[in-house]
Amino acid sequence: MDYEDERRAIVEYAKRMYDEKLVSATSGNISIRLPDRSDAFAITPSSERYATMTGARIVIMTIDGELLQCPEDARPSSEWRLHAELYRHKEAIHAVCHTHSPYATAWASLREAIPLVLAEMQPWLGGSVEVAPYAALGTLEVAMNVVNAIGERGACLLANHGVVSVAPNLDLAYVRSCYVEDAAKIIHLARCIGAPYEIAMR
Ligand code: 13P
Ligand code: ZN
Repeated sequence: MDYEDERRAIVEYAKRMYDEKLVSATSGNISIRLPDRSDAFAITPSSERYATMTGARIVIMTIDGELLQCPEDARPSSEWRLHAELYRHKEAIHAVCHTHSPYATAWASLREAIPLVLAEMQPWLGGSVEVAPYAALGTLEVAMNVVNAIGERGACLLANHGVVSVAPNLDLAYVRSCYVEDAAKIIHLARCIGAPYEIAMR
């Protein structure tokens, strides 16, 4: 299999992520679990520009790090372990988006969870957005911190780094990244003029 559909979808959403300013330059990464192998996934290559990215640059690999399809001059995202451990530990996850969207990353830099203030956070994100403890970029430690922090929710912050969102499909994972940024921005604005009310989880 050449996974044309998965390659095309990843490139499409990666370009959107860049165009919609959820990442700068080459930061962030996106993956999809393979339809015919639950222990493998397709992922963006490391440190490549989104504007010129094509499906041929997408890397196909297993959750144990074996490269199945990879251009000679490409490397998988340096955060492949983060994606791999989410797929290994959470069966329902079929897509992962990692962004550095600015308002959410500002909260992540404070290591402060985004509280449940906006009604839409409940259905879209599963409540507040918690913070996974800090660990160095690309490590297994960062991956396991995220697996534990995200629980059954749709997203979490990575301390001093960015955002991870997950879902059964890429469109929903991407929408969740957008809602995390939206919540981070609106609650920041609310705090500039007062003390926003939190709502209880239902
Ligand atoms: P990659 O370009 O290797 O995917 O890294 C981007 C990033 O966000 C690192 O955390
Ligand atoms: Zn990152």
